[in-house]
Amino acid sequence: MSLKEYWRKREFKKSPEPGGEEWGGESNRFVVQRHQARHLHYDFRLEMDGVLKSWAVPKGVPDEPGVRRLAVQVEDHPVEYLNFAGTIPEGGYGAGTVEIWDKGNYELEQRTPDRLEFILNGEKLSGGYALIHTGGNNWLLLKRKIKSG
Ligand code: MN
Repeated sequence: MSLKEYWRKREFKKSPEPGGEEWGGESNRFVVQRHQARHLHYDFRLEMDGVLKSWAVPKGVPDEPGVRRLAVQVEDHPVEYLNFAGTIPEGGYGAGTVEIWDKGNYELEQRTPDRLEFILNGEKLSGGYALIHTGGNNWLLLKRKIKSG
């Protein structure tokens, strides 16, 4: 289903990445993977609809309110990818090293086609965040300001 694009891009005989046989339950996990590919970036993934909704964030997930980071939505990944770390060989899609930078759970507060609001409870990241669709595959990822009063 929505993993077709994930499967299409990869040769699983050559890549250590998970094949995606398992489908997620109802839990709300997230992961941030530091991906040293041709260009270093961070992959932000939210468990949602049985898959990992995924964004590549070139400059990383902000930990200060007011900082907006470009987040480019990429293909859905299988839930097993939450635990993936390893080296994707040269020549393969995403070739390079993947490390788990942070992981945890999130609480979804708002979901529309163009806006997600959620609270991250990770080891490094915590607090309210938003993903705002700005066009095409482009989104902005930001940490929300704490409401006063
Ligand atoms: Mn990546």
